[in-house]
Amino acid sequence: MDYKYLSELLFPDVTMTEEELEAKYPPRQLPDGAKVTRFAPSPTGFVHFGGLFPTLVGERLAHQSGGVFYLRIEDTDARREVEGAAGALVKTLSHYGINFDEGATADGERGDYGPYKQSKRADIYHVYAKRLVAEGRAYPVFSTDEELSELLTADKKAELKSVNWEEDGQARREAMLARRNFTIEDVERELSAGHKFALFAIAEGDGTRKRRVNDLVRGDLELPENDEDVVLLKSDGIPTYHFAHVVDDHLMRTTHVVRGEEWLPSLPKHLQLFSYMGWKAPKYIHISQIMRQDADGSKKKLSKRDMGANLDDYSRLGYCPRAVIEYVMTLLNSNYEEWRAQNPDRDYTEFPFNVKKMSSSGCLFDMKKLDDVAKNVVSRMTADEVYAQFRVWAESYAPEFAPLLGNADYARAIISIGRGGKKPRKDYGTWVELYNYMKPFYDGTFATEDEYPDTVDRSDIKKALSMFLETYDKNDDAGTWFEKIKAICAPLGYCADMKEYRTAPDAYRGSVADVSMMIRVAVTGRLNSPDLYTVMQILGAERSTARVRDMINRL
Ligand code: GLU
Repeated sequence: MDYKYLSELLFPDVTMTEEELEAKYPPRQLPDGAKVTRFAPSPTGFVHFGGLFPTLVGERLAHQSGGVFYLRIEDTDARREVEGAAGALVKTLSHYGINFDEGATADGERGDYGPYKQSKRADIYHVYAKRLVAEGRAYPVFSTDEELSELLTADKKAELKSVNWEEDGQARREAMLARRNFTIEDVERELSAGHKFALFAIAEGDGTRKRRVNDLVRGDLELPENDEDVVLLKSDGIPTYHFAHVVDDHLMRTTHVVRGEEWLPSLPKHLQLFSYMGWKAPKYIHISQIMRQDADGSKKKLSKRDMGANLDDYSRLGYCPRAVIEYVMTLLNSNYEEWRAQNPDRDYTEFPFNVKKMSSSGCLFDMKKLDDVAKNVVSRMTADEVYAQFRVWAESYAPEFAPLLGNADYARAIISIGRGGKKPRKDYGTWVELYNYMKPFYDGTFATEDEYPDTVDRSDIKKALSMFLETYDKNDDAGTWFEKIKAICAPLGYCADMKEYRTAPDAYRGSVADVSMMIRVAVTGRLNSPDLYTVMQILGAERSTARVRDMINRL
């Protein structure tokens, strides 16, 4: 067959040449070892927590090596596209401090290697599609869209179980060979009838043989050679992922492809295409699915519906972006936590991220661990930072509370409790938790949330609170304040000295800890609170004593 003629028939409109494209997208001028990586999402409108993994790996690899990190929007499947999703995605990632040097940004494109939206690159793909036809490596299949979609679904299914498709292997092989069997006249007839075609690449591999492929995290792997003709272009002329990946990552000069492990079985297809094109393939890192562990110990993929899967959840709950990133870093590199312990004040970007320290098995999503990390991160922030971020959060998620934060000094004083120093308090890791922590400090949100334990005599409480009011002086320092509380003990039959109390608890009605608790519940409404003296200092004498009086009246 005259393949050159066939390529002209199929792609009469291609005017660009490969030389022009090579000149337009030359190898990048970057320092030695600089990596070029990308995030290449399909704009389906949902930003999954799992998406942060490949993104952060790509970002770290590029930026720590002086390279380029760019965003390519893979919108070749128009049916799945959600309007505005790409812009929202960029915004979300930037909220997490992940920024792109190039690509499809919210306000248009930036960079010399675009267009960065695949839907705008059809004429580029066609240049290479035409070449593959001219070389006898690709062929058209004329079908209706429905037939094609059936074909593609069958292919997809086979791909999923590609290692073991013997049962229907023979039938599939025959169908594939039949597709390759056509004449130039057939093509001319179909074209003049206005029929559309999909383009397939001829597979040259032998599925019973293995080929060695490399993944930087998983090492050398043996995968079956590709013996399935791959769809390059769909009947609308838009490429499949496989073809677009090869063309784009070549022209955009990607050095490292970081993507989900679901693409690993297709790697032999991609490597075959790179070799057909005569291009050097990039290095690959396939990231495992994020798993969650159920109560019964079984592991499942973190699915869309799971708590923590949708990045919007994190904003709503008020996880600060740095905490989420910090958590992802601990999952990504096994030595990150150790580094963090040694460098508590350094930015995560100073950590020497290393692909070799990544785990090849799936990371386990652990909300408890995330909470721990978040508490640590927030405890290391300044009161100003916490205040600023909390206020922004409150405006969206606690609008009735937000105006109260207008008194910045007051809010900052609360946030400053136990902050700084070697062992900062770790009361809250999210803004929801901080909101809850702050409630007792504002009359509008103060409530007696905890009851006094039944074991404590109500008249003891009444007496203790009254005695406390009698001696309380707002000018007392912490020491004097506490001495006065101790002084209440003896007349009530409570022990002022904890050590002594422990040796003979039956000799007393209770201890100074119980007396403090009585005041604490009256003032904060809770059995647990930060240092009560400090809390009262912040609340002020008037508000504190009013609450105590109110409690006496209610008892
Ligand atoms: N659009 C593909 C996806 O969302 C990208 C895979 C890749 O990074 O190459 O899965």
